[in-house]
Amino acid sequence: MKALLLYGPRDLRLEERPIPHPRPHEVLLRVRAVTVCHSDIHYYRYGRIGDTVGNEPFILGHEFAGEIVKVGSAVQHLQPGMLVAVEPALSCGHCRYCQEGNPNLCENLRFAGSPEQDGALQEYLCWPAEFLHPLPKDFDADEGALLEPLGVAIHAWDLGKLRIGQSVAIVGCGPIGLLLIQLALVGGASQVFAIEPLAYRRALAEEWGAIPLEPGEGLAEQITGQTNGYGVDVAIEAAGVLAAQEEAARIVKRGGRVVLVGIPPEDQLLLTHHLVRRKGLTIKLSRRMKLVYPRAITLVQRGMVNLRPLLTHTFSLEEGRAAFELVERYADGVIKASFHL
Ligand SMILES: [Zn+2]
Ligand SMILES: [Zn+2]
Repeated sequence: MKALLLYGPRDLRLEERPIPHPRPHEVLLRVRAVTVCHSDIHYYRYGRIGDTVGNEPFILGHEFAGEIVKVGSAVQHLQPGMLVAVEPALSCGHCRYCQEGNPNLCENLRFAGSPEQDGALQEYLCWPAEFLHPLPKDFDADEGALLEPLGVAIHAWDLGKLRIGQSVAIVGCGPIGLLLIQLALVGGASQVFAIEPLAYRRALAEEWGAIPLEPGEGLAEQITGQTNGYGVDVAIEAAGVLAAQEEAARIVKRGGRVVLVGIPPEDQLLLTHHLVRRKGLTIKLSRRMKLVYPRAITLVQRGMVNLRPLLTHTFSLEEGRAAFELVERYADGVIKASFHL
């Protein structure tokens, strides 16, 4: 089978590997769709994320769906032929944090598409059955893959604790931000501000019913002007740049909540202390997601969230470099690029 390996910054190589065999609690998947995430771009550019460094070649891809080819001897509830979405974070289930109901904080976590666990940019892979979610009939593989970023958005949304009728700003309208906008629109927000430098992404947010605004000078004044002088109740930062953290803190009301989802390349948190202290802000950092797949599937199945507008480009495994560079450069109106294997 074909596998796309990352050897170092910007060094992708297509190689032949043997098809693996599932262990008793695993399932062998034929990977069908893998969508590209900005965290993949971090690895592609720098060969690392924070202190997670890839010393050996490894396989990227953590947003994916596949078709079951074979099930391990101990797997009861899944059958060959099923299309499944894949939870990419393998939590241990027995450490203190898993036991406390926070598998996203598991101390033994292994994550697909990182140096410690090969991801899905390969034709076949084995995955533990308990981390697979069978998809309803009308789902395609791209939608299955995009349940992962939707899960990240749902977890961030939960942390914002927005009450019905309150206002929210989403700072950064990449895939996660756009999904947060959809959640805000079905989640009872009275006003949804979409703050984004790229015009085509603002336009999509506006089409859905959000109020589009550009970041930078004058943003805080525009938002206070549209919220009776107070600022929004909740701001969720999904831009992954340092300036957006501060921007979120500036546009939120006194006593409001700021949720930070983005991962800035500087690997830092940068907020003006007197600003966040005087306002008495609650600042919450979002760490991946927990136990949200069933809700993600329901939201899509009932038409409350539409994943299809996010998918703008498709590539084959041979076109790895082109896919990563398109996403890296925000070229050609890209929102999500998907590998079809
Ligand atoms: Zn991702
Ligand atoms: Zn654990």
